[in-house]
Order: sequence, then structure tokens, then C-alpha cells
Amino acid sequence: PTFEELGIDKLLVSCLAESGIELPSPIQEAAIPQLLAGHNAAVQSYTGSGKTLAYLLPAMTLALRRAEATYRRQQAAASSGASSLAEQDQYSVQVLVVAPSQELAMQICRVAAGLLPPEGRSAVQQAIGGANMRRQAEALAEKQPLVVVGTPGRLADLMRMGALRLHRCPVLIMDEADQLLGDVYAADMAHISEHCGKKLGQQQQQQQQQGGKGKGSRAAAAGDAGDAA
Ligand code: AMP
Repeated sequence: PTFEELGIDKLLVSCLAESGIELPSPIQEAAIPQLLAGHNAAVQSYTGSGKTLAYLLPAMTLALRRAEATYRRQQAAASSGASSLAEQDQYSVQVLVVAPSQELAMQICRVAAGLLPPEGRSAVQQAIGGANMRRQAEALAEKQPLVVVGTPGRLADLMRMGALRLHRCPVLIMDEADQLLGDVYAADMAHISEHCGKKLGQQQQQQQQQGGKGKGSRAAAAGDAGDAA
């Protein structure tokens, strides 16, 4: 199948084609329908198999759909003369990608931004340690990104200072999940997963923590699997 036949947004598909990527790899073909349907998934595959796009393409397709719905509500509200917008009518982070190292987070950020046309790339923002935190906080406020990619400590810090609000974020992705779920990042990851999608409801939260299926609380975990496919 083509990416479009798998349900990936046309805008993303056309940007992909510009970088010469035309057909899904096996891991993409397997993962995309599951993630688009809102299922939790652990994506395990060898390095170079196309894992990053396997989660970014469906996650960003869902993000664009939500942004379009928000846009339509805003237009409808504007034309009916409504003066105040409900919270659900405001743009908010739709996809959070967490990675254990700054290098990996920056690389994911580049891939995600490359899926959008140049004028749309500010919809992807990074929140990584080692860079100026105040500037990151300002960028989050200014750009209202749909996708945030970061490292655990910096994400947790930005959340604690109120610069990053994730309670309406329906998609949490952990790249190198085996590392992120180890002791080193336990406290920050607990903070992030506890606040991500908090308004999705108690039951779904529990399902998410148990790795089960929770509609609207998609958690995709990606890790290198060596020789496992
Ligand atoms: P990853 O496994 O995510 O690190 O991706 C490895 C490389 O494969 C990257 O340089 C991608 O641009 C490339 N890639 C990912 N998906 C495809 C695809 N469907 N067709 C061709 N190249 C791809």
C-alpha cells in the first residue's frame, strides 16, 4: 500500500515524496494502521528500518486532523459572533515525543519538521536540556506547537514552570522506551506520563499505564530490538 492508502495525511505524504520516500517500509506498514486507530503500541525494530516515521506519520496525521477540527470550530465561532472560545477551541500540543538524549531528540525534531512545508515547521518545537530554557518557554507560548520533542528532565521542568501544558495531549511517544523506562529517568517520566492527557479520564489513564488499549490515550513506545523484529 501507499502512505495515503494507509491513511497518512496528504500534506505529510507530499513532503515525504520530496525527500524521496515513496513507499512504507515493513515496520511502517505494520505500525501505522494500529497507531492511527488509536491503539497503544510498542514498536520494536532494528536501526534503519524506518521506526521514526512509523510513529511520526500517524501521530502527526492525528495532530493535523485535530488542528483542522479546531480551525473549523474557530471559524464557526467567529462567523456566529461568539466572543470567547472554549478551551477545546484553542490549539494545544497534540503529540509529545520523549527521547533519552539531546542528539536523538534533535534528530527526531528535524524529521518531524521535515514532514511539514517550510511555513508550517514552527508547529514542531524542541524542549531539550542544554539549551536556554527561557527561550524554549517563550517559543512554546508563541508558536503554540502541535508537536513537542524533548528530553525527560527539560520537559518535566517546563511542565513544572507552567510553560508546557499537556493535559489535553492525546499522544505520548517514547523513543528508546527501554532506556526511558529505566531508573535514570523514572521520576521525570512519572511526572510526564502522569500529566500527559490527564483529562482523558481515570480509566484510560490506568489502561495507558498498563500498556493496554485506551481510546484517545495513545502511547507508542519505540526501542531498538537488535535482532528482534
Ligand atoms: P530510522 O529507522 O527511523 O532511523 O530511519 C532510517 C532511515 O530510513 C532514515 O534516513 C529515513 O529517512 C529512511 N526511511 C524511513 N522510512 C523510509 C521508507 N519508507 N523508504 C525509504 N527510506 C526510509
